[in-house]
Amino acid sequence: MSPHQKKQMAKALREAEKAGFEVKEVHNGHVWGYVICCACGDRDRVDCTPRSADNAAKRINDFVRKHTKRHG
Ligand SMILES: [Zn+2]
Repeated sequence: MSPHQKKQMAKALREAEKAGFEVKEVHNGHVWGYVICCACGDRDRVDCTPRSADNAAKRINDFVRKHTKRHG
């Protein structure tokens, strides 16, 4: 996997992987890839060039936190 070009998002994706989530790179149009919760299969889309990389990174963190909490 190559790191996301936005450093905040690359960091959030690394942390997602460390937390046991699957990070899938697809590079399909403006879609960079997905963060996938292995426990329930939910996924969150990761854009290549979001309007705000800070918000996108925060969304990845929130997704990971929400599912980590949900699955205990
Ligand atoms: Zn989940």
